[in-house]
Amino acid sequence: MLETIAFIGLGNMGGPMAVNLVKAGYPVRGFDLSEAAKLAARESGITLCDTAAHTLTGAAIVITMLPAGHHVLSVWSELVEVVDEGTLMIDCSTIDVDSARRCHALAAGAGCLSLDAPVSGGTAGASAGTLTFMVGGEADALSRGRPVLEAMGRRVVHCGSAGAGQAAKICNNMILGITMAGVCEAFVLGEKLGLSHQALFDVASTSSGQCWAISTNCPVPGPVPTSPANRDYTPGFAAALMLKDMRLSQEAANSTGTVTALGAHATELYDLFDQLGHGGEDFSAIINYVRSQSV
Ligand code: NAD
Repeated sequence: MLETIAFIGLGNMGGPMAVNLVKAGYPVRGFDLSEAAKLAARESGITLCDTAAHTLTGAAIVITMLPAGHHVLSVWSELVEVVDEGTLMIDCSTIDVDSARRCHALAAGAGCLSLDAPVSGGTAGASAGTLTFMVGGEADALSRGRPVLEAMGRRVVHCGSAGAGQAAKICNNMILGITMAGVCEAFVLGEKLGLSHQALFDVASTSSGQCWAISTNCPVPGPVPTSPANRDYTPGFAAALMLKDMRLSQEAANSTGTVTALGAHATELYDLFDQLGHGGEDFSAIINYVRSQSV
C-alpha cells in the first residue's frame, strides 16, 4: 500500500497533479477553499477534508500548490502545529525564495523533512503528468519525495539546498519573459521591414535567435500551429502569471543587489499590458502592445 498524501490547493495545477497521484495508486486527502475545485476533486477519487489540518490524518507526505508566498506560509504555519514528526512537506507553488526558506525552517522546527519543488510545464503538463520539478532541499528529503514527484512529472532536477528550486524557477522565467519580449519586438520590426512572419521564423528558429519563445510559443499565427497566437492568444501561460513571476525575479534582484536591467524593463512591459486589461491573454500577446506602441 502506497503512502497517503495530503494535497492542499486543488486549482488549475494542483487539481490535475493530485489526480495523477490517485491514478498512480496513492490514497490522496485533499483540501481547497474553492467549491469548484472541491467538486472537481471529489469526482476524481480524492478524499476531501474540511480543513488543511484534517488532510494530515494518516498522511506521510503533504503537498501544497497555492497562489503565492503568503498563502503557503499561512497554510504551513497551520500544518506544523499538528503534523507528525518525520512527515515530508513539499511546496510546489511558485513563490519568493525568502518565503520558501521560511517554510523549510517551519518544517525543520516541527521535525519534518521539506522540499521546495516549483514546476514548469503549465496546466497541460500538470494534466499529462509531464511537469519538470525544480527542487531545493536536502538529498534525504528528495530521495523520499522523488517517487511522488515522478508520479506527477517527467523530470526532477535537484537544484541545491532550501530555496534553490524557487531560485531556478524565478531565473528561468525571467529569461522567458525577456526572450518573449525580444521575439515580439523582432517580429514587429520584421513586419515594418516587409519581412514575412514565416521567413523570419524559418531563419530565427534555426539560427542563433532560436529560443522557446520562438520555436514553441511563436507570438504570430502560422509558423507554429499549436502556439496560442493561433487561438486568439488563449493561454497557454497567462500574462498575469508571467507578471507575477517577473515581479518575483525583481524582488529577488533587489534583495540581492543584482542589476537586471532587461528583467526590470520586461517586468514594466507585462505590468502595462496587465493594466490595460490583457492579463488573461497568453503572455505572447504582448506583441500587440509592441505593435500599438509603434507608429
Ligand atoms: P489556481 O488559482 O488555479 O489554484 C490555487 C488554488 O489554491 C485555488 O483553488 C485556491 O482556492 C486555493 N487556495 C488558496 N488559498 C488557499 C488556502 N489557504 N487553503 C486551501 N486552498 C487555498 O492557481 P494555479 O494555476 O493552480 O497555480 C498554483 C501555483 O502554481 C502558483 O504559484 C502558480 O504561479 C504556479 N504555476 C502555475 C502554472 C500555470 O500554468 N497555471 C504553471 C507553473 C506554475
